[in-house]
Amino acid sequence: MGTMTQTAYDAIIVGGRVAGSALAARLGLYGWRVLLLERDTLPSLPAVSSPIIYASTMHMLDEIGADEAVYARNTPKLRYLVNEALTYTSYVPIPRYANGRDYAYAIDRARFDAALWDNAVRLPNVTGKQGFSVTDLLWDGERVVGITGKTKGGAAETFTADVVIGADGRFGVVARKTGAQERDVHATYTTSIYYAYWRDVTPLDVGACAAAYEGDGRFGYLVMDSADGQVAVAIEGRSDEVDPAGEDTETFYLAMLQRSPKLWARFADAERITSVRGMRDIGNLYRQAGGAGWALVGDAYHQKDPLDGQGIFDAVVTGKALAQALRQWKRGDLTWEEALAAYDETARVKTYPMFKTLQSRIRTNFYDSLAGQLPGQWQQWIAEDPRMTDLVGKMLTRQIPPDMVTVLAPGIMMRAIARGSLREAGKRLRDKLPF
Ligand SMILES: Cc1cc2nc3c(=O)[nH]c(=O)nc-3n(C[C@H](O)[C@H](O)[C@H](O)COP(=O)(O)OP(=O)(O)OC[C@H]3O[C@@H](n4cnc5c(N)ncnc54)[C@H](O)[C@@H]3O)c2cc1C
Repeated sequence: MGTMTQTAYDAIIVGGRVAGSALAARLGLYGWRVLLLERDTLPSLPAVSSPIIYASTMHMLDEIGADEAVYARNTPKLRYLVNEALTYTSYVPIPRYANGRDYAYAIDRARFDAALWDNAVRLPNVTGKQGFSVTDLLWDGERVVGITGKTKGGAAETFTADVVIGADGRFGVVARKTGAQERDVHATYTTSIYYAYWRDVTPLDVGACAAAYEGDGRFGYLVMDSADGQVAVAIEGRSDEVDPAGEDTETFYLAMLQRSPKLWARFADAERITSVRGMRDIGNLYRQAGGAGWALVGDAYHQKDPLDGQGIFDAVVTGKALAQALRQWKRGDLTWEEALAAYDETARVKTYPMFKTLQSRIRTNFYDSLAGQLPGQWQQWIAEDPRMTDLVGKMLTRQIPPDMVTVLAPGIMMRAIARGSLREAGKRLRDKLPF
């Protein structure tokens, strides 16, 4: 057992984007003295991420005082998810959430992350340092008691705290230095994604996030109306299909867009305004929630394929669960080990069901292409069935557990096919009648 360290902070948070800033604000509102450290300078785009957020996320941002007018400034409200599959098109209306919001945003991540940062550091007891890279952890025996890091070109600095939290993303330093164990790793069916922001893309539909699937469903395009008239355009697909394989990324990305003449036609007057960013073989896993003196949140704790667009929600919700557990620990209601276990359990209850069904959705969407398994017309009937679109919308906005979709979908599909067949038979009959 080491000696007690006199700490300067209650918590040091490594990483100051969604998970870090949202958690810093929550702990700051509890009155904790927080040091929030970020390697990048904000506003800037994160390494990767296309940008869909739903009301479920905005609701939690309300709780920490983040202002929608700021983080979603000049960003159109998206009312539909349009899904153009090979054999059908579906329009999923964004269902109304408890807080009255019936829209999503494809936020500008640079603006969004900076707004969350500003929201955290407006609190007098939250100190933020940007351009500060954490290079190592400080230990007292088995326990993490602080960090070492530096600003670019600066001398090494150390800070101590009761708890060090890794909100430092998929490849974070806290998980690496603590040797955090990985769990629930799904590495067989992976996707890769490349995206950039554009201007003057011909709109498909006002206020829609449109997804179109091509290439026998092995890859697809996501076209999202974002802030200031910008459009985020992503290509996602199975990793062997979306693979620059030595080609430079920008050339590859443009060539992929051109594989869909229908999509490419919308780029006649378009101008690309950011570089192409992306990730290969996107990982799907959980990590150990924490250990003596440390914990992980956001992507550092749980990372997954972006197909459902839930990473930002998960980053905020895991931060909320950790903050609540830490508060109970600080009050003496829970031991450190109990607090970590409570955090892990809540975080998993909130995220695991979606993660589990996501893994099968990746397979169905990109690997076991649905095309050919059901007649095209049946797929269309299912896709346009209002009960089906309602179910999907409620799942994506986290209003129903995804398991409910698994249970209810087959019945809805059968009824949609039955109704469609009846309509079709009726129409054929009417066409034959002489009056
Ligand atoms: C291609 C792609 C598309 C996605 N699309 C969506 C989507 O549409 N909707 C959605 O909700 N989610 C999406 N996600 C997921 C989402 O981007 C992440 O879940 C989210 O960014 C996680 O937030 P975070 O704060 O945990 O990590 P990050 O956003 O990765 O932030 C971690 C921060 O930590 C900092 N950091 C790292 N190491 C250090 C260090 N040593 N010292 C100091 N700072 C450090 C980094 O600079 C970074 O700013 C997507 C992800 C990918 C890969």
